[in-house]
Amino acid sequence: MPEFDKESLQQLDASHHLHPFTDPHALQQKGTRVIERGEGVYLWDADGHRLLDGMAGLWCVNLGYGREELIEAANAQLRRLPYYNLFFQTTHPPAAELAATLAGILPGDMQHLFFTGSGSECNDTVVRMVRHFWAEQGQLERTVIISRHNAYHGSTLAGASLGGMKPMHSQGGLPLPDMVHIDQPYHFDEGQGTDPHAFGLERARQLEQKILELGPERVAAFIGEPIQGAGGVIIPPDSYWPEIQRICRQYDILLVVDEVICGFGRTGHWFACEHYGLEPDLLCMAKGITSGYIPLGAVAVGARVARGLIAGGEFFHGFTYSGHPVACAVAQAAIEVMKNEHIVERVHDDIGPYLQRRWASLSDHPLVGETRGLGLVAALELVADKTTHARYPEDAGAGLVCREHSLNVGLVMRAVGDTMIISPPLVITHKQVDELVDKARQALDLTLHTLSNQQGK
Ligand SMILES: *Cc1c(COP(=O)(O)O)cnc(C)c1O
Repeated sequence: MPEFDKESLQQLDASHHLHPFTDPHALQQKGTRVIERGEGVYLWDADGHRLLDGMAGLWCVNLGYGREELIEAANAQLRRLPYYNLFFQTTHPPAAELAATLAGILPGDMQHLFFTGSGSECNDTVVRMVRHFWAEQGQLERTVIISRHNAYHGSTLAGASLGGMKPMHSQGGLPLPDMVHIDQPYHFDEGQGTDPHAFGLERARQLEQKILELGPERVAAFIGEPIQGAGGVIIPPDSYWPEIQRICRQYDILLVVDEVICGFGRTGHWFACEHYGLEPDLLCMAKGITSGYIPLGAVAVGARVARGLIAGGEFFHGFTYSGHPVACAVAQAAIEVMKNEHIVERVHDDIGPYLQRRWASLSDHPLVGETRGLGLVAALELVADKTTHARYPEDAGAGLVCREHSLNVGLVMRAVGDTMIISPPLVITHKQVDELVDKARQALDLTLHTLSNQQGK
């Protein structure tokens, strides 16, 4: 049992701790969930309840909890050199070695890395990099970055501005200037009744319309997650990304892919742009890079932009913890584990297809309007009517009801509106996938029961 008193801990937390992405009133009423320890794909809360972590923390603990290799790498680096910076012509072995390792697994001509401390910092870095790049080419007008509604690119000013989350924009006067949004390729919610292929093309061609509307000489870059994660695991129709790539090439717009979730094996490839055949100019990574054990992010830079940046002289940008040696050492160890255990291949050939097959079996449930997924990320849509796909009224809170039931039966599943999503550790076994899907079905049954009772009132 834990070595603390749960109630007094919750009291301290409520008195002194402002939580990220949390409604403080709900927190005061219901109290915080206290997570105390983890092992493999499981978490234990302060009451000793075991939870299967269907979200790998926040999409990051890809190798599961308690990996000795990562802990050892951190310890060894802490003893040897716990900190040094990379400013002013300095490097250290973990950063230089990790940059080379990443260059070895990245697709295309991405051979240069800029380290940050998080996914948000990657996207802030991207904004400064692409504008600096174009300015160095003498194209000072090229400042606009096009993104999508309901995208998630982090929570710093630039990250939240590039993101397309309305509630985030409503706080703090966002988005920043010259960041504009087109519609997302979310077929279930926005393309009902249309052919997915045609819908994908229509959504991609909004990029072309926007470029023409603004004037191609003003547009610096397009940014997108290969699969939108926080937006609800939105998997675009296959026609979408090739058309985006074509448009970027035609108008000479830089293509930035945000692989903070998709990178490091989540889709059965080191990076999801391999799945979609994309050749981005810049690529953001974080989360799975260290399996979430310690914060780290990196922006991978393709040959053309790297040449421009190098020719452009000093880039006045960097973070105290850019390429932190302990984080780089942990990332190096995580990549070694992934290679030694053939984790990417396993997601591609074995556990990914298995999870998708089992997850799709939930589509016969009366509440489920669609299941979808790729590799080890998946979603299902909760609906009131399976044939028309009508949703429950918003105040029914179907997604939140389902999330609560899921937690109560011992599964961490996340709700994005009425979309339920999972993104389990990549080391999950077949038996644990069975457990995950069985628990998801139990949660759906209980949710149906709760919602039917609500409606009866
Ligand atoms: C989580 C996330 C980010 C932000 O990363 P942080 O490390 O939280 O700053 C950016 N982009 C995507 C796609 C993400 O999922």
